[in-house]
Amino acid sequence: SRPQIACLSLLLLSPAHALRATHAGLGARQQRAALRMQASVPEGERVAVVLLAGGSGSRMKADRPKQFLELRGKPVLEWSIELLLGVQQLTTLVLVIAEEFRAMDFVAAASERDSRLVFADPGKERQDSVSNGLNAVPAECTLVAVHDAARPLVSLDAVHTCLADGATHGAAVLAVPMKATVKEGADGFVTQTLDRSKLWEIQTPQVVRPQLLRDGFAKVREEGWVVTDDVSIVEQMGAPVKLTLGEYTNLKLTTP
Ligand code: C5P
Repeated sequence: SRPQIACLSLLLLSPAHALRATHAGLGARQQRAALRMQASVPEGERVAVVLLAGGSGSRMKADRPKQFLELRGKPVLEWSIELLLGVQQLTTLVLVIAEEFRAMDFVAAASERDSRLVFADPGKERQDSVSNGLNAVPAECTLVAVHDAARPLVSLDAVHTCLADGATHGAAVLAVPMKATVKEGADGFVTQTLDRSKLWEIQTPQVVRPQLLRDGFAKVREEGWVVTDDVSIVEQMGAPVKLTLGEYTNLKLTTP
């Protein structure tokens, strides 16, 4: 049909974003078909995922770190492990998790079932955990995606789209346009209202060529840079980071 042809020709120009842009005009059946045509990870890429589950989650005020709380009958972390083992071209899933939690049934079972699952020790801050995870990424990997276990609702399509953008641009991050109004303040008074049309809320995964991230961490250590997330290292290196349009449903568990 005509809409399908229009959609297909747009897809040839810019796969994922054209596809999302055309969603509004499609019927339910075409939408489902379009979703099956999301970006795929280029053949020849060897993907590692670093899954961060090393935090204490103190803001959640629960009896255990939030990644081990139950969500619809399964621990939060189990959702991500299962999903990420299904990533295209995946060679290694590095699970950053304290030794004491590796014996949990679902963790032990997953590592027995799938030899691509390996462990790394958490560090003091999130960045230290990322650095430890990166050290466990095999040298032959060409892309690494860093994902927070605290985001169990990410979709495989979104992960693949971000990996495809990372392969094209060297670094990419899932993000959604900001819905909230954001103001800057000092001493309890507004100093500035930021232009919302330029603001993006950053999610994970964040995808980087591993060598770029290794070089970035070397710089962080040399120059004492303070970095809040993985791709901000890439930004500080002056390299481009693609904003991959994600989904608002990729929520992060933070507070109760
Ligand atoms: O604390 P926050 O919510 O920012 O943590 C984001 C993710 O990073 C969580 O999945 C948490 O388990 C992980 N993390 C980690 N090592 C740390 C701190 C946080 O693996 N030292």
